[in-house]
Amino acid sequence: MKIFNTIWDFLQYKSQCPFCQENLHASLTNFVGVKKTFLPILNIPVAIKPYKFTFQIKHTTSSYDMKANGMIDTRTNALIFTVIPNSTDFDNLTLDIDRYVAKSAFDDLKPHFDLFCNNQSCPNRYYLSSSILQAEDVSLTKVWIISPLKLYLEGFETPNEVVQNDWLREETNIYSIIKDADPVKFQPIIDFTSMSKEALLNRVLTIKNWS
Ligand SMILES: [Zn+2]
Repeated sequence: MKIFNTIWDFLQYKSQCPFCQENLHASLTNFVGVKKTFLPILNIPVAIKPYKFTFQIKHTTSSYDMKANGMIDTRTNALIFTVIPNSTDFDNLTLDIDRYVAKSAFDDLKPHFDLFCNNQSCPNRYYLSSSILQAEDVSLTKVWIISPLKLYLEGFETPNEVVQNDWLREETNIYSIIKDADPVKFQPIIDFTSMSKEALLNRVLTIKNWS
């Protein structure tokens, strides 16, 4: 299992797409399925520097709307929500409750960090996803601290498949893009970067043909 104490450590884990050698981009996002058929609700670009970035979170119920700014420091893993006051906020207590509403709305999105190849002409669209963020409330402060991240998913596409490593289960899953079928599972996990891209693509083809 690969564990990263800080978000910054995860952002620097790999810098290039092993298929096209373009620099990887980073984002704070939510899962949209293996075949990425949906657009993410959360899609915040994250740079290696500066170490802090902000995003907005909204929560709507039948009785009220809440908006808050979130801030994450990638070196300290600090997560802070600042509620944007509106007409329904009467006092600091409401703002304080809304801070927890913002955190809960953020958690509901199952947020995580992605490193991904954004080169439109790359046929393999390599990516790495961290585990879902979990943050502990630091008592008497207004700061949550995000727990160390684990490497969760690593994947790429071929014309017919999505090949995905589940690093928590330590298995490789090969999904068909064309057929809606269960993935072909393979263990031990294939280390994508231990071989040339040609050898890797051949390996995937062999496993699929023998399954
Ligand atoms: Zn690429």
